[in-house]
Amino acid sequence: MFGFKKKTEAAESAQEKKQEEQKQETAQQDGEKQPEEKKAQEIPPEETFLLDRTVRCVVCDKVFKSKALKSKSATRLESDLDLRPRFKQLDAIKYDVVACPHCGYSALSQSFDHLTGGQIHLVKENICSKFQPSIDLSSLKFYDYELAIERYIAALECARVKKAKISEVAYTSLKLAWIYRGKAETLKEAAAGASAEIGRLKELEEKYYTEAYDGFLAAVSQENYPICGMDECTLDYLLAVMSFHFKKYDTASQCISKIQTSPFATKRMKDKVFDLKNMILEERKKEKES
Ligand SMILES: [Zn+2]
Repeated sequence: MFGFKKKTEAAESAQEKKQEEQKQETAQQDGEKQPEEKKAQEIPPEETFLLDRTVRCVVCDKVFKSKALKSKSATRLESDLDLRPRFKQLDAIKYDVVACPHCGYSALSQSFDHLTGGQIHLVKENICSKFQPSIDLSSLKFYDYELAIERYIAALECARVKKAKISEVAYTSLKLAWIYRGKAETLKEAAAGASAEIGRLKELEEKYYTEAYDGFLAAVSQENYPICGMDECTLDYLLAVMSFHFKKYDTASQCISKIQTSPFATKRMKDKVFDLKNMILEERKKEKES
């Protein structure tokens, strides 16, 4: 099921190559005395920001290591409009799935331990019975995008198999969409000729973003808050941004009104929706003009 080894070795050698290039560039800059640029180049390797967490699988009861972000180790940048978290040194979303290498059970880290007896039975019957045990991931220094994508797809399959809440499936889809966005961003920085691959990644991002959007819209009418750790204002905001993305301006405006009249919305949240409201007005104006 997981072709971990080959891809990850390739990723590590790509990372080593990148570091070697950075070293060479730094050496050149030393000669040219460009201290500010030199500072910008010196990002420590990804593994510096990671730790190996010991996890006991709730399905097969075996113990394994799973990589996670060391708290407060990486520098947080401003999130994307849709709350996708961003860090200066790495894409932390790659580490949000826990996947058991013994039985194949995978889930977002926040949901991994929360299974009912019935769900364990469903996972054993539909996932574990077909799973080929993979290599021990603790030998890897970091997860590359290909591995992260495999882990998210496995988590999505498990979420469906175990009949998880709609919101859990939606949240897993959203994070997978963000992973495709993150991967596309790394290609943008690279040499030309990557446009076909970026186009493919954008299509995949859109596919899972649509699934996430439909799922969250269904979840808000069926589930109680917090939903996937989000309070009502946060999820209304996310839905407003996603509705804006899909040009569903009426839905976006409804979500915005809810936030603007909510006694629980922070000033920061109200400022954010004010900006979003203006963006919607702009788009509507453009549509009328065209
Ligand atoms: Zn397991």
